[in-house]
Amino acid sequence: MAAARAVASAGGTMLRGGAFKPRSSPYAFQGLGVEGLKMLAAARDETGLPIVTELLDPRDLETLLDYADVVQIGARNMQNFQLLAEVGRVDKPVLLKRGLSATIEEWLMAAEYIVKEGNRRVILCERGIRTFETATRNTFDVSAVPVVRLASHLPVIVDPSHATGRPDLVLPLSLAGIAAGADGVLVEMHPNPEHALSDGPQSLSPAAFSEYAERVRDLVRWTGKTIS
Ligand code: PEP
Ligand code: MN
Repeated sequence: MAAARAVASAGGTMLRGGAFKPRSSPYAFQGLGVEGLKMLAAARDETGLPIVTELLDPRDLETLLDYADVVQIGARNMQNFQLLAEVGRVDKPVLLKRGLSATIEEWLMAAEYIVKEGNRRVILCERGIRTFETATRNTFDVSAVPVVRLASHLPVIVDPSHATGRPDLVLPLSLAGIAAGADGVLVEMHPNPEHALSDGPQSLSPAAFSEYAERVRDLVRWTGKTIS
């Protein structure tokens, strides 16, 4: 609830939180499952923010749809074709993150798996790709934004938090993404990043997030665009 209030008061337009978490280690926190979905719904009730949350297992789809406004397909499942087809038959938007080592062509074909089943509401999300570079968690591919915009009518957003793993790079790369034509930004924030059970080191504090949102709005005003 603290996170939701911070997002709402800083002017965020949606609240994204994972109840089912795709963690690299099976021993790491795996999310709260249905209990987490209920918390997200309570946060939406209080703040009015629509909820974005990840689907890992098609067996959880019906339950997740009781709570989610947007269904996220994470990077690790970008080419889980059965899962893509399942969300293709759903009447809710899908946030499709780019795979860890996926080409833009593969990413667009993954979106096609969803659209082919009838769901045309797909939002693409550039979240960094694997390269030889180690200074950042992944390499933020800013060129993906204009490439996708030229190749597709689908909206594209950027996630500089997972792309870099570094809170100090979230603002400059958000600005770069918006300047390149992104329709939105996805950013990790935690009321107490040092105690976060997932991705704390890359998360902004509520105060930093509020300051960040101001800077993003400055650029958006200048571009004359509307973004989320
Ligand atoms: C996430 O969005 O919480 C996440 C795990 O990101 P990605 O799928 O991009 O690694
Ligand atoms: Mn995360």
